[in-house]
Amino acid sequence: MFDTIGPQIQQAIDGIVGNPIVQLGVRAVLIYVVLIWLASAFWAFRDMQQRTANPVAPYLAAAFIVLFTPALFLFAILLYRIVRPKETVAIATERALAEEAMLAEIEARPHCANCSRAVHEEWIICPTCRNRLRRVCPSCSRLVELDWSLCAWCGKDFERPEAPVAAYLPGTARRGAIGAPMPGEPPAPGYPGMIAPEIAGFREP
Ligand SMILES: [Zn+2]
Ligand SMILES: [Zn+2]
Repeated sequence: MFDTIGPQIQQAIDGIVGNPIVQLGVRAVLIYVVLIWLASAFWAFRDMQQRTANPVAPYLAAAFIVLFTPALFLFAILLYRIVRPKETVAIATERALAEEAMLAEIEARPHCANCSRAVHEEWIICPTCRNRLRRVCPSCSRLVELDWSLCAWCGKDFERPEAPVAAYLPGTARRGAIGAPMPGEPPAPGYPGMIAPEIAGFREP
């Protein structure tokens, strides 16, 4: 019984394999697999380019896929996906920039030069270490920085001592104390009101 069925099956298989349409289909599938294999190598090349600045690594990744032949390249893709660098270069750069910006922001926040604690913009003394942060302009009472040589708000010159407006002589057009120099004039020698007490002690914390 098998003697008669065996050759028949063999004949049927031969007929299928020999069929030009089937042969064409098989060939098309094989060509497609080869194309996928080559495309995978190209994908690995591009993928590695995005993940490393190393110029050789993309070629190695592509060669790795190619070496696994069209029959086994899927295993190569699996391996590549496991060992490839986790982050792309763009994301790593973005993260580094964000970290840098955060650090700069922390640094830009007002802080005490002595104890580095955060302080309010308008504080004049650090409440932690008593370090002098700012001073008050004796002329306009606004806050001025310690290194300002004159008040940015009212223009008062902290470097040049000014006569206190202590006296006013009626009948004279001169403003200021008797014998006090007008702004721009050199002070008279030995003028007692040359250095006002509040100016003399002004720079001390
Ligand atoms: Zn402090
Ligand atoms: Zn002022």
